[in-house]
Amino acid sequence: MGTVNVVNVAAKHKLAWYQKLYFYSIGNGLWITLKHFVKAAFLKGAVTLEFPEKRRKYSSRFRGMHSMKRDEQGRERCTSCFCCMWICPADAIHIEAGHVTPEIQHLHPEDKYAKKFEIDLLRCIFCGLCEEACPKGAIYLDGPAEMAADNREDLILTKERMMEKNGGPILGERK
Ligand code: SF4
Ligand code: SF4
Repeated sequence: MGTVNVVNVAAKHKLAWYQKLYFYSIGNGLWITLKHFVKAAFLKGAVTLEFPEKRRKYSSRFRGMHSMKRDEQGRERCTSCFCCMWICPADAIHIEAGHVTPEIQHLHPEDKYAKKFEIDLLRCIFCGLCEEACPKGAIYLDGPAEMAADNREDLILTKERMMEKNGGPILGERK
């Protein structure tokens, strides 16, 4: 069985006098920091961004917050078919259907609409199944990615928050 000669190993790793002062290591560390600082500040080599003033461009496949869409005539696409709610593996969607009355007929293409439509972002796993299952193209995960909040209510997306305004999504477009 081989043995390790501890004395020899210690002698091999013996520190030089200037290494024992630790200024050498401190200086080495500062030099590395300085190199990164110069590279980031003057040579545009920074790998980080000054968020939120600057943002990275998201991939087209990125899944952010949900948004609900309107058709070409400005009517809500959602017809309250419940497909998204049934397929959601996280049980994050809650829908209450309503019957379209003559007064609101111009806002809806069929005889049912979503009176209440909520998505709990604390449950959602952003799998995208609701988007895939929707037969009307009414829901997309194309909203912003920043969804931090300091209370639970702000993380419940209501229909009013998600619904696209005529001419653009209420949640804002990706930058
Ligand atoms: S993205 Fe997935 S988990 Fe989130 S609401 Fe849609 S189906 Fe449910
Ligand atoms: S969003 Fe689409 S799948 Fe969900 S209830 Fe509305 S129409 Fe149906």
